[in-house]
Amino acid sequence: MHPNIWYPYTQAKTAPSAIKVKSGKGAWLELENGRQILDCISSWWVNTHGHAHPQIAAAIYQQAQQLEQVIFSGFTHDPAEQLAERLVAKLPDGLERVFFSDNGSTAVEVALKMAYQYWVNQGKPRQAFLAFQGGYHGDTFGTMAVGGRSIFSEVFSDLLFEVDFVPFPATYWDDPQAELKEQTAIQKIEAALAEQPQRYAGILIEPLVQGAGGMQMCRPEFLQQLRQLAQQHNTLLIFDEVMTGFGRTGDWFACQRAQSTPDLICLSKGITGGFLPLAVTVCSEQIYQAFYSDAPIKTLYHGHSYTANPLGCAAALASLDLMAVNEPTFQSMEAQHTRELQKLRSHPRLEKLRVTGTIAAMDIVTPEQTDYLNPVGMQIRQAALERGLLLRPLGNVLYLMPPYCITAEELTAAYSGIESILTQLD
Ligand code: PMP
Repeated sequence: MHPNIWYPYTQAKTAPSAIKVKSGKGAWLELENGRQILDCISSWWVNTHGHAHPQIAAAIYQQAQQLEQVIFSGFTHDPAEQLAERLVAKLPDGLERVFFSDNGSTAVEVALKMAYQYWVNQGKPRQAFLAFQGGYHGDTFGTMAVGGRSIFSEVFSDLLFEVDFVPFPATYWDDPQAELKEQTAIQKIEAALAEQPQRYAGILIEPLVQGAGGMQMCRPEFLQQLRQLAQQHNTLLIFDEVMTGFGRTGDWFACQRAQSTPDLICLSKGITGGFLPLAVTVCSEQIYQAFYSDAPIKTLYHGHSYTANPLGCAAALASLDLMAVNEPTFQSMEAQHTRELQKLRSHPRLEKLRVTGTIAAMDIVTPEQTDYLNPVGMQIRQAALERGLLLRPLGNVLYLMPPYCITAEELTAAYSGIESILTQLD
């Protein structure tokens, strides 16, 4: 640990210290001491094409020699325009206007501001949002307010705006309660919307997979019902696809896999293949027009120094090219995750196995209280490192979300490593 750096999430006594990484190539990271580590989580879920992909590196280098950065208010440039066009072409019909920002938290923050101001601009302000227990949307004040895990926000709770939380119908293989959980969640949402029809500016959800909440997965049917409810009760539906976007759920976007189109979608993480921070919030024409038609016009006061940075956009365009090539991997990886998890199915330390697209997750059976930095998770993390695997359990949830360039043999090796680690757990 460097004495001049404040590393994130390192205050707890159980937190491990930072390991120095020298370089990366494909699915592998090389540490300072020369050891190779297989990145099974795409480094905080961003490196969709692995590390240091030469095609993305070359695109950034080329762009850097032409235009590295320019103010994006009153100016525009080719990389941003091409990226907006290509994203809109890939997204479901109806999502048409692309607002650029810098990271996942900000993409969601912008969506919340757009949704809130959408009603204000129509002279019908609404004071709250509906969001899901266990959800994570970032660590700015707005996104903390809508976060459904109090660990990230409790210190600031006095400063956060009003949000009502409903249960996320998390399910897994052979879950006998799957439908019941869905019905319960739908009933609660419907009751909230019906009781106070003017209260909610929007409903915010991580579609299909809640990430930081422990890779909790819901069924596509739930998102279809949510779409209907939002429509019926005249509120906006926001999908936070910061994690699930760009192939993670087996389709380009979770909204496509779930066949449920939101009014606003937030994308970041995998957008540049892990090379540069960039994000977008994409909304419907109807929302856009609420800011641009006749009076009362109120502009959206949001714009950052690095908005639509040309290097980030160039990286994203190169990453989209690779995505098109890697498309078959989204499904083949899902099939392999499924086969590998089937083999681990009867392991006594595992329960609640689940797979969606390129994400596989399982709960470790543990007698301890399962907070974020719980001892079993830490033990697995350390044992994995010793075996050359980068794994980072979320509480007692162990998951894999590898880059698309990982080979089938490497993924199988990762699962064998997991099996050995589980067998040796205290
Ligand atoms: N939304 C989701 C679903 C996320 O997983 C994350 C990051 N883990 C964020 C938002 C925040 O993104 P960032 O860390 O880039 O601000």
